Amino acid sequence: MSFQVKSGYIPFTQETVVHFLVQHNFIDPSAPLLVKEIGDGNLNYVFQVQNKATEESWIVKQALPYAKVVGESWPLTLDRSRIESEALKQAHSLVPEFSPIVYLHDSEKAATVMEDLSSHTILRKGLIEGRVYPELAKNVGTYLAHTLFFTSDYGLGSAKKKELAKRFSNPDLCGITESLVFSDPFYNAESNAFTEELRPDVEILWEDQDFLTEVASLKHSFLTKGEALIHGDLHTGSLFVTARSTKVIDPEFAFYGPVGFDIGAFIANLALSILSQEAHRTEEEKDGYLAYLFGVITEVWHVFESTFRSLWDTYLSEDNLYSRSYLDIYLHSIFVDSIGFSGCKIIRRTIGLAHVEEIETITDPVTKLAIERKALHLGKKLILKRKNIDSIEDYIEMIQEVL
Ligand code: ADP
Ligand code: MG
Repeated sequence: MSFQVKSGYIPFTQETVVHFLVQHNFIDPSAPLLVKEIGDGNLNYVFQVQNKATEESWIVKQALPYAKVVGESWPLTLDRSRIESEALKQAHSLVPEFSPIVYLHDSEKAATVMEDLSSHTILRKGLIEGRVYPELAKNVGTYLAHTLFFTSDYGLGSAKKKELAKRFSNPDLCGITESLVFSDPFYNAESNAFTEELRPDVEILWEDQDFLTEVASLKHSFLTKGEALIHGDLHTGSLFVTARSTKVIDPEFAFYGPVGFDIGAFIANLALSILSQEAHRTEEEKDGYLAYLFGVITEVWHVFESTFRSLWDTYLSEDNLYSRSYLDIYLHSIFVDSIGFSGCKIIRRTIGLAHVEEIETITDPVTKLAIERKALHLGKKLILKRKNIDSIEDYIEMIQEVL
């Protein structure tokens, strides 16, 4: 199968990625180099190129014109590489401490040269190992409030927001989310993947009309609520962490969408981590670690909310109508959306195409099945009851009820 790609596009090899960096004056052709392809994604190459003499290092992320997971059969626009690099630059201009530096984007090669963050660990891996990141919730809450407020009508003004939105029209990647998060898991789609033992539970979901109507309403919000420039895929694999530092990577799904989608993605992935803990911790470790993870969910919401309020007080684009009481209503709607989207994410990671490592790697099938049942039950409850959940503490309680 062939693809419509720009004439200068060729996927890099370890040799040609070096030529590319030499051409752009990042490295001297005679430098002693170590080159590795370190990507674990399905859609892109990620090369790390290190100068062994100076210890300088670069990451080159290149989009592939198809999804690797299904061979070459799923064409995807290379323009997502431009979107990712622009979203990284946008985030860096607002919250430099939480974003990698982008050095260069080459649209013909669909490649971005960025800061090497190898001193960091992917959060999902860290949570599987039972690590504690004391600053994580504060950092993510601050990142969310700043990136979302300052790209919204309230923080940017409506004309500038519309200008910015033009650069982030992302139909291909939004289409993936529309299918994999909001459609396929809710009917007998071919892309779904789950064990036969789970089928009776899945069929109960597929036959529940009230539930499916609520999913439709969340999908509608995803399609139509262009509130802010969202990351679009803020799961724990898109966060790079150390004890103190947090960096958000991989915004190739960025577009103008609902604010609650990023918050929902993050808390859903923490909820899945919580459900998986019985397979990864000893009895003695478990309670302490669960308390930490619950604390992250609670704190991220509180930090997001209080930071958003203070940005609103200081930077609101002038409009008398936007009173404090309107802000209360708006934040409540963000909260309700976040809960609903988190439910969709939990379900899609359980029965949809792509699962999460902390559950997928559980070797005991009985334990794994029990956790997947809990996840389905939790996701459904969150979607159905989201309008009656008043606080993040109630959200925690709902997870505790299924544990
Ligand atoms: P994909 O979109 O294909 O999932 P990611 O951006 O998530 O690609 O990157 C895949 C992997 O490559 C990450 O999990 C991480 O291990 C590595 N990686 C990506 N960006 C960087 C970076 N800036 N520094 C170091 N490693 C990185
Ligand atoms: Mg990605």
